[in-house]
Amino acid sequence: MQVQRHELVYMNWFKRQRVRYILRHHSIDFELWEKVLQENAVFKGLSSVDKAHLRELTTLLLHHKKFTGVQGLVLTVEMAVSVAALACLPILKLGLVYYDGWTEIIIYPGIFRVKREQINSDGLIVQQERMLSGEAWLRGPVILAWEEIKADLLNPQAGHSVVIHELSHKLDMLNGSANGMPPLHMNMERQDWTRALSHAFESLTRDLSHHRRSHINAYASTSPAEFFAVVSEYFFIAPDKLQHHYPTVYEQLALFYHQNPAKRFAEMLANE
Ligand SMILES: [Zn+2]
Repeated sequence: MQVQRHELVYMNWFKRQRVRYILRHHSIDFELWEKVLQENAVFKGLSSVDKAHLRELTTLLLHHKKFTGVQGLVLTVEMAVSVAALACLPILKLGLVYYDGWTEIIIYPGIFRVKREQINSDGLIVQQERMLSGEAWLRGPVILAWEEIKADLLNPQAGHSVVIHELSHKLDMLNGSANGMPPLHMNMERQDWTRALSHAFESLTRDLSHHRRSHINAYASTSPAEFFAVVSEYFFIAPDKLQHHYPTVYEQLALFYHQNPAKRFAEMLANE
């Protein structure tokens, strides 16, 4: 079936009306919103325009995705707003369209057990059991552990965020399976991205193989996909650390996310 141009215009019009309706009638309570922003250091330094835009994106995400607490976790509005706000930070300058293609965020009380079938070195299928703090399925849900989200909030210096980690896997998956390269923008070069991230990845694995202390979470050395997810965590939570140790990676992420958190944090400290 061919969609006529005027039908597209109407579809866009209806979509825009729906967005306006949600923002007007289901906007997050202002006091609650301010509380969530205050409690999470990662939002400090955002301009008032960015904060207002983040509130709109968060409101829409809460409407577009189903937030489900499982294994007895009672998900309060405040908890859902905290998770959704953090999830929207990476797409603040990209838009909600970057989270298209999946519908649900599932939250466990603590780390959860998963069983997977894997092929071992003898070519046999074996059942593997692992404990996870988060998971992102290709075209499926994002799964998170509330205890981990809380721990990240209490210790932002560590540069960890399970929410940003899993959501950056979702961005990575936009052009197929997760491989450490999300869809780059027109003003970006694949070569620059690959060079910056693969050099940093190799330098990290070299440090680890020589038993040297790694500058970032060693989990990043697991695969290029995990590397992208871990450096995305640092980019938003501890940007100065990433910029200091891996400046070209920071530069590429700043181009992809259209944000400069290191500058934002430095300006905030200068104004304190
Ligand atoms: Zn991961």
